[in-house]
Parts: sequence; C-alpha cells; structure tokens
Amino acid sequence: MIDSEGSNPSLTAISVNRMISETDARAKVLEAVRPLPARKLSILKALDHFAAEDYFARLPLPMFGNSAMDGYAVIAGDCRPGKRLRVIGEQPAGIQQKLRVSAGEAIRIFTGAPIPEGADAVVMQEDVTRDGDEIVINVDVGVEEFVRKRGCDLGEGQKILGKGDRIVATRLALLASQGFADVVVGGEARAAIISTGDELAKAGEKLRPGQIYDSNSILLQSLMERCGAVVASTQHCGDDAKSLRKAFQAAAKNEIAIVSGGVSVGEHDLVQSTLRDLGAKIDIWRVAIKPGKPFLFGQLGGCFVFGLPGNPVSAFVTFLQFVRPAILKMMSANDLDLPKFPAKLTVDLTNAGDRTHYLRGKFENGNFAPIGRQESHALFGLSQSNALLRVEMGESLKVGETVQVQIWE
Ligand code: AMP
Ligand code: MG
Repeated sequence: MIDSEGSNPSLTAISVNRMISETDARAKVLEAVRPLPARKLSILKALDHFAAEDYFARLPLPMFGNSAMDGYAVIAGDCRPGKRLRVIGEQPAGIQQKLRVSAGEAIRIFTGAPIPEGADAVVMQEDVTRDGDEIVINVDVGVEEFVRKRGCDLGEGQKILGKGDRIVATRLALLASQGFADVVVGGEARAAIISTGDELAKAGEKLRPGQIYDSNSILLQSLMERCGAVVASTQHCGDDAKSLRKAFQAAAKNEIAIVSGGVSVGEHDLVQSTLRDLGAKIDIWRVAIKPGKPFLFGQLGGCFVFGLPGNPVSAFVTFLQFVRPAILKMMSANDLDLPKFPAKLTVDLTNAGDRTHYLRGKFENGNFAPIGRQESHALFGLSQSNALLRVEMGESLKVGETVQVQIWE
C-alpha cells in the first residue's frame, strides 16, 4: 500500500512519534462530546432523530378484538359445511353496533370491525353462499379464525421505542398508533463547515490556472445531513490567518465546526495556529489512520472543532470515523458505528504501514473488492465505492477470507 498523503519525508520521523492511535483518538473525541439538551418534536418532524426517552405502549394493539376479513361473524361450533345461518345485522369498522350473535345466526362484518358479542370466528365472504338474508357456510370454521385478538400484537406497557433508537418511518407509525402527537428527541447538532485553500473555486466560477473546484464542502454537508445534523453555514476561506480567524469566530457560535484543509504541516496550513491564537484547546492532532493522518480535534469556547485533511478521501474517512460518531452522540443516538456486514475478500491485502488503513471498495453480492486508486486525492474511486475495509497495522488478509466491511450507503 502506498503512502499517498504526500507527507514531507523529513517530518515523518517526528510525526510517527506524535501520532495517536485511531482507537484512542475516537475515544478522546467521544469522551469530550456530550448529548445536547433534548427537545420535543411533532411526530411529523421527528423522522431520523433519536428518541431521548423510552416510550411504552399506552394502548394494546389491536385495541379490541376485530375482524381480519370481510365476511360474517359466527360461532365456530355452530358452523359446518352446508349449515344455514340467518344474517341478523351488519357491523362495519368505526362504529360499535353492540350486536350479539346467537346459535343459528351470523352478522355481516368488515375488516377492522369489532367482533360482536357471542361470536368467536369470522368466515370469509368467499367461503359462504349468500341467499337473501341467509348464508350457507361452505367450509369448516375454527375458533378464532380471522379474529385479531385484543393485544395479540402489542401489550399495554410494552416498550415501543428505546432511548437512543433512531426514529424510522415504522417506529413513527407505531407512535402514531398509540396516539402520540410528539416525541422527545436528542438535541439539534448545528455545524458550520469551512473549506480552506487559496486554490479553491466554487462551482459555477471560472477556474484560474492552478485552481480546483471545492468538492469537500458539498461532501461534508451531505454527510452531515445524512447524520441528521443541521448545516448552519458553509464558507470558503483562503490560506490567510485573518480570514481564517474571522471564519472560526463566526463558526464557533455553533456546536460543531468542521474545517477541511490547512491542518497539515506546510507553511500554508494555518488552521492549528489560528485556532491556538483564538484560545482554542487542541486535544488531538495527527492520528495513525490512513488516509487522514493530519486530523485535528479541539474546542473553541463551546464549539467542537474537527480539522479534516483537505484531500477528499481523507476528509471522507476521518468524517466517518471521528465526526459522525461524535455528532450521533450529541444527538443522543445509541449506535454510533456504521453498519457492518461480512464480506469475502477478492484480493490478498497486507498493511505493512504504521497506520490503520481504510480501504475503499465495492461491497456487492457478499464480496468486497478494493476499487480505484487507494490514494487520498482519488475522488473518482471513492465515488465508485460503497464500503470501507479497516486493515490494522501489520494485518495480512487472504483472498476468500471473510472480513467485516463498513457500509455508508
Ligand atoms: P491541505 O490539507 O490543505 O494540504 O490540502 C490537501 C489537498 O486537498 C490539496 O491537494 C488540496 O488542493 C486538496 N483540497 C483541499 N481542500 C479541498 C476542497 N475543499 N475540495 C477539494 N480538494 C481540496
Ligand atoms: Mg490547503
């Protein structure tokens, strides 16, 4: 595996000693951040937030015994093929008619309608022959057939949503079925995104020689939104201390600031010195992770600052490994990890380097194949991938071996 971050060889010896492990860095970040104050949201606005409390059923489901079919409510023991029953009334859904079935009788009933007193089964309309105000039963009928019993799905008091669970569409539906109009969710994580670099131009601008288009802003904004966080602002900043200072001062009004570029060791990498000048506390700088070594984490007042390397793949990997779990914790989520799936490796791999390596690849049909140039600037390969494989320092993996891959899409 090639070291592709263009690190200055004369600095490598010093930086190796200064790097902290990826595991320690993650633990440090997660120790520093705290869940934000919870708030109440209408269930109409709660999709993809995280429950800040446990929720329990206040109603059983179904709430009353009801019919699973359009048909006839009957007494099962009173039915056999050829038996005639008199239809004495009709029970639609939504109105309790308070009818009662006795031997020799049936009540016309519809899906979701309450089972009338006396009845213990429903016979489907397809299984009877209607003859004026009578029906002829054509099948055997078992007790409780096509009856949905009260509480058979969910009992009163049962837990329906755990603190820290993501509120997905189906859990929202369950809350709604219980009459909840709102739900207490984790706090809103608001972030400012700053992209730095004299070389950057915005989409739509004409490129001058030596310039490139800014792709990190949209990358980070999209990743933030996928986490359910709010992007309060995105700004671009040249490599000068004055504009960086201004950008940080504005960004620090948010819970989170994510800056890309300028965190490395070149003369134009002014993020760290500017943050220090502003009185920021730098907790982490340089992590044994590839790509993403220059990753920085600190605090400026009440704002958590994440400094991501400018190379797009490094920004992507460090966002997923450090920023994403921090944001999820701030939003009161339980599960801070990317989903993992077992995959069969399609190649041999060895990490002979001094950093944990995240390979970008394609997870498809149960296989994982590295894709594109495994270099930190190689955005095209990244765009073709859907999974990350973490290879530890010194680890050797063989083709056909089952590994766990992280999926982000
Ligand atoms: P830096 O971390 O500032 O040294 O930048 C490392 C590499 O990432 C350089 O090739 C930059 O041109 C590139 N880069 C920095 N910021 C961005 C960005 N916002 N979008 C795309 N590439 C970037
Ligand atoms: Mg730069």
